Amino acid sequence: MAGSRFAQAEARPGTGADVRLTVGPDAAPGANTGSRTGAGASTRPPSAEETEAMNALARFLAAPPADTPPEVLRVLTLMAGDPDAPLPPRVYFETVEQAPVAISITDDKADILYVNAAFEQLTGYDRDQVIGRNQSILSNNATPSSIYQQLWRTIQSKNTWTGILVNRTRDGGDYLAELIISPVLDAGGRIRFFLGMHRDVTREHRLEADLRAQKIRSEAVLNAAPVLVVLLDAEGRIMLDNMEYKKLLGDLRGEEPARALRQALIEQAGFDPLERVLKGDGFKDVEISLLAPGSSAPRWFSCSGVAVNESDASVRGYFGAAEAGEHRLLLLANEVTARRREIDRAHLEHLRARLAEQQLSEGVREALAAASYQIEQPLNLIRAATTMFGDRDGELGLFIDHLRQISTASERALATLRAALPSEAPEAGVMVNINELLRHVLELETDRLLAAGVVIDWQPAMQLPELSGHRNQLRSLFKYLIDNALQALHESRRAQRELRLATRALDGSVEVIIQDNGPGLPAADRLKAFEPFFVGWRRRRGRAGMGLALAQEIVNQHSGTIEIDDAFDDGCRVKLVLSHTPSQE
Ligand code: FAD
Repeated sequence: MAGSRFAQAEARPGTGADVRLTVGPDAAPGANTGSRTGAGASTRPPSAEETEAMNALARFLAAPPADTPPEVLRVLTLMAGDPDAPLPPRVYFETVEQAPVAISITDDKADILYVNAAFEQLTGYDRDQVIGRNQSILSNNATPSSIYQQLWRTIQSKNTWTGILVNRTRDGGDYLAELIISPVLDAGGRIRFFLGMHRDVTREHRLEADLRAQKIRSEAVLNAAPVLVVLLDAEGRIMLDNMEYKKLLGDLRGEEPARALRQALIEQAGFDPLERVLKGDGFKDVEISLLAPGSSAPRWFSCSGVAVNESDASVRGYFGAAEAGEHRLLLLANEVTARRREIDRAHLEHLRARLAEQQLSEGVREALAAASYQIEQPLNLIRAATTMFGDRDGELGLFIDHLRQISTASERALATLRAALPSEAPEAGVMVNINELLRHVLELETDRLLAAGVVIDWQPAMQLPELSGHRNQLRSLFKYLIDNALQALHESRRAQRELRLATRALDGSVEVIIQDNGPGLPAADRLKAFEPFFVGWRRRRGRAGMGLALAQEIVNQHSGTIEIDDAFDDGCRVKLVLSHTPSQE
């Protein structure tokens, strides 16, 4: 900013008129510049005498005698001030004198020519103690010299300098001065004076320092908390987070934990935490799981959300006419994986026992079903023969009677067999997480898989929608398929045995891949394998050929599909798509 003109002050002659601006070391202490108590003295209204003199001068200048020398006229005009100016010069002086900011006018070496009352009050110096002294009288030697160098470079190139200096008052008190220095140029554009204005900003500095310290303390507390903390704005942008958050960010390989947690709450708990909190409702201790990339076990978090309503920070809100403040979501997530694993372990033990029981009863059912099927076939032939021959005499009649007796006995045996079939307990439909079920089955099968030297490649989808379904049935389904893969790997001569399991979220359903690098199925058998009693294994012992037929039935109940992938020829790849069960018995 270029310097302002100040030529008029210099042009004032030192007459007794009140329009005089007294500057410079020659000015009499307190004369016409206001004293230390001076604001009062210098703001007095003009006396009747002074007013009369000014009025007389104005009348004279309005119609000066014809012989008045022009230079006298010029001086008198200057004394009276410009009659066309909106304000008399005295007003300018009083304004500076009474301004609430400390003002000084110096020469071009910073030697003080004038200071106002506020300067006296702030620095503790009377004006007669500083006039003629350098402004450096205020320096407390704590301001780096580089700042002064920059200050001087700026003002000497006729620009305004603004900055902060550490000043010392007359009685030795330090304060921070926020300073504006402007050069004042003469008519020729040369620097004539410097105008300095400063105010004490120590309080603001302390407040800022307190705020910074408070921020550091809050951050230290936040970072030491063993809970993930993140503050989101209404658009879901991150405003603040802590160390636990950053750790999880690393574990998720750069995926924003806030996004992953929010998505998991939507999919697993059925609500959007942001929407809920923006509506004014919080939530507490909702457990969800996240799967970090490359990890086979999910991590569990207990999440809570609190609404934080910030006050309106806009300038409009200064006088209380505040808009509704910004709404934020403070999301807290406490990792509970260890506790969850303990619960899971106990659950798994229970499952193991239950599955063994289930398998036993399914084995019995399968064997009985196979036996009754096998009895049914010859029985149908006997029934057909007795119907065909009708009632006959002689030996043939005797033979037909025998056949009828065999048929009746067989039907009784068949009825006994059917009655012996253990009935299936109806299973209630619940919301199931397919990743969790598969992982449970894998854990149940771990010992067998390890003993068979199988390398498992488990690639669950990070997020899966929960499906309504029958947990036990689905568990049996996965067990059938994994058992089949294990049997196939046993029959293969491969040195490296691999089992790959993967899940993928489709639109409202879930795809599951169970793939082994065993011998695979010939193309012709890929559909037949789903028929009852089809057994393609080399080692048939203990196999009734009902596994895939039952698997198909379970998949059907979950509105899904199951197929052996034709496009895969390096073993067997079973592809399943599971949706919600239409009815939940
Ligand atoms: P100095 O040796 O006086 O100066 C330090 C450095 O400043 C020098 O190395 C040099 O680079 C530069 N410098 C000083 N004087 C000049 C000059 N005349 N020409 C070119 N470069 C120069 N200082 C304060 O500490 N507090 C104030 O409130 C304050 N108010 C000021 C108001 C005005 C209007 C002006 C013009 C200056 C003000 N100063 C103020 C600056 C002051 O004049 C001194 O420059 C400063 O205090 C450093 O003084 P010093 O004795 O510590 O060092």
